[in-house]
Amino acid sequence: MSPMPGKKRMEPRGRIAVVGGGVAGATIALYLSEIGLEVTLFEKGPSLVSGPPMCHLHAGGNLYREISDAQCVTLLRESIDLIRFYPDAMDYRPTVIAVPTDDAGSPRELFGRLALLRGVYDDLVREDPANRVLGESADYYRCYDRGRVEALRALPSPKYPASMDEWMIPVAKHIDLEKVQFPLIMVQEYGLNMFRLASSVTLALQQKNNCRLLLNREVTGLERGRDACTLRYRHDGMEHEAAFDFIVNAAGFRTGELDDMLGFARERFVEFKSAYVTRWEGCEETWPEVIFYGERGTPKGMAQFTPYPGGFFQLHGMTKAITLFDDGLVKSSAQSAQPRLKPKFLEKIEKGWSQSEVEKRSHSAIRHLSQFIPAFGSAEVASKPLYGAQQIPGRDATLRAADVSFEGERYARCEIVKASSVLSVADAITRRLIELGLADESAYGRRDFATVRALDDEAIGRQAATLGLERDYPVALTRRTVATA
Ligand SMILES: Cc1cc2nc3c(=O)[nH]c(=O)nc-3n(C[C@H](O)[C@H](O)[C@H](O)COP(=O)(O)OP(=O)(O)OC[C@H]3O[C@@H](n4cnc5c(N)ncnc54)[C@H](O)[C@@H]3O)c2cc1C
Repeated sequence: MSPMPGKKRMEPRGRIAVVGGGVAGATIALYLSEIGLEVTLFEKGPSLVSGPPMCHLHAGGNLYREISDAQCVTLLRESIDLIRFYPDAMDYRPTVIAVPTDDAGSPRELFGRLALLRGVYDDLVREDPANRVLGESADYYRCYDRGRVEALRALPSPKYPASMDEWMIPVAKHIDLEKVQFPLIMVQEYGLNMFRLASSVTLALQQKNNCRLLLNREVTGLERGRDACTLRYRHDGMEHEAAFDFIVNAAGFRTGELDDMLGFARERFVEFKSAYVTRWEGCEETWPEVIFYGERGTPKGMAQFTPYPGGFFQLHGMTKAITLFDDGLVKSSAQSAQPRLKPKFLEKIEKGWSQSEVEKRSHSAIRHLSQFIPAFGSAEVASKPLYGAQQIPGRDATLRAADVSFEGERYARCEIVKASSVLSVADAITRRLIELGLADESAYGRRDFATVRALDDEAIGRQAATLGLERDYPVALTRRTVATA
């Protein structure tokens, strides 16, 4: 294409453009460059993986009672894949699930699914011993009746828990045992540290000569041609354009904006949510994550207690006063594939929160958790919240395992709801590129890449801490609960 008048022309050195450097776009760009393709990654912000937060690796989907067993199995498989791909981004600590006394459900309703997941994990380990990343399959979950929990109360909390029982000690000591049903269930769903993930993928991409990482570049237009797509982007106030053979739309909750540029219809939801960062002064114990189930959207919505070192805790509460918002869930329309969030949410995303709202919602979150952990009532607000909007493709707002869809031959859109689905997306795009003759057949399903695994743990930690400070979060959030797996 000829240069646009008054605009700089960039010669296409990459044949594949990935738009959006969240966990999806950054991982896909890394994957495609690992299999030898020329990739250009456009991210409008100054760093990678800075969109909506993530703290939990859903290795079995046990946070969600309402989703199908099939989605849970998918999340388990994908999470194992992700741990193997980004081993240094994981926080290797388990999750405890508690069903409140006043909840209509019972822990026993979870047993069938847990046994199914343990069986699937066992099969995966038999298929390939390298899949044993969640410990022994027999320990995928364990139930704790009241007597066992009361016995653990008497023991000292270890700084470095070495067994499931040791991880359970702080829970046994601090939760109000009258407020929960028994058994409590401990499951090997680990933490996912977004700062360490951002750091890992950034350091890995910096080593790939065949991936151009273009930060601070906003894609403003896409136009389909016969064999190529013209992409326009803005940088430093200048408009540029370039031609690509294949476009990967990984623009997160703005995926519909790119669909609209190309005239593709698509149904999806976008939801704005947030989590709160708090500090429990004097807490020196090493906690697992703890989930207190509850009905989403009601004042008793699920409470999630996510630990970081130094007494820092990230809190979710699935109520409209905490994580969810009135009008926070919006749908695409017949006219546009992009659901329209109210300006008050876009303003939060682009400009931040008022201090009074940070205080109000963070304190609501502290109160919500302290119903179950009374001593946590003394916690303080530690920073601004972690927040953002995410897309959910289709018509079912409870969908949690989703990956990618295609339009025509040369356009893919990533539609992950959970970070663990990114490698499924990379595989599906690779399949399409093979069909188009842009990648070799041998590229499909590959995982034997050395770049991420060769990264130095300390370098990942340093870069993660820098990102945390740049984004104005406590450095504790960039660290693992315990130093090693
Ligand atoms: C409160 C909250 C908690 C969550 N917790 C978890 C969790 O514990 N575990 C989990 O797995 N998931 C969690 N999620 C979901 C998870 O955050 C998202 O699924 C994930 O971030 C989506 O990644 P993505 O790369 O698709 O999109 P994003 O992370 O949104 O990335 C999209 C990127 O595209 C860029 N972009 C957009 N438009 C353009 C353009 N025109 N040009 C250039 N760049 C553009 C954006 O700047 C952004 O960096 C949570 C979500 C929320 C809101």
